[in-house]
Amino acid sequence: MIPKKIQPYFKNDTFKIKDGNELVSGRIECCNTNEFEVSVIGSVKKRILNKMYVIPINDRLAIELRCRKCGRTIHLFDNRFDGYETLGNYYDDSVSNISVYCKKCNCHSFVIDVQYEYPDMFDLENLDINEKENAFTWIWISIQCSNCGRKYRRFIDYDAT
Ligand SMILES: [Zn+2]
Ligand SMILES: [Zn+2]
Repeated sequence: MIPKKIQPYFKNDTFKIKDGNELVSGRIECCNTNEFEVSVIGSVKKRILNKMYVIPINDRLAIELRCRKCGRTIHLFDNRFDGYETLGNYYDDSVSNISVYCKKCNCHSFVIDVQYEYPDMFDLENLDINEKENAFTWIWISIQCSNCGRKYRRFIDYDAT
């Protein structure tokens, strides 16, 4: 199970159960390629040892991908709409998209790996929600520079409950 809007782009997925939760991992693909430009709404933190990650800014966190071949935009995650507990109609106009560049080589092209955590199926069935596929409880997104290969693990690590 993964959010419907991501299904067409979610490849090589693996599935496991851990502590009663369902963990689904996969890689984002479009036009038979895995290379995307990345932009985020949030605060991009750069740390030693080439660490880089994003945390919410004014409670907003979002990541958008742009296919390097066809230019299609994929709204991979937005905490206003996606996850078990969304912010609903909350909207803060003061925050805007920031383009993400590799900290090591300054390239603007990344391979995107995503992992979703879902609660127990029976819990989900009993909830009065429209799209169960979008009720994930955690999302992890790792990005890897397609130029130099530097990997930014848990670039996004968000508790959606
Ligand atoms: Zn494409
Ligand atoms: Zn790089």
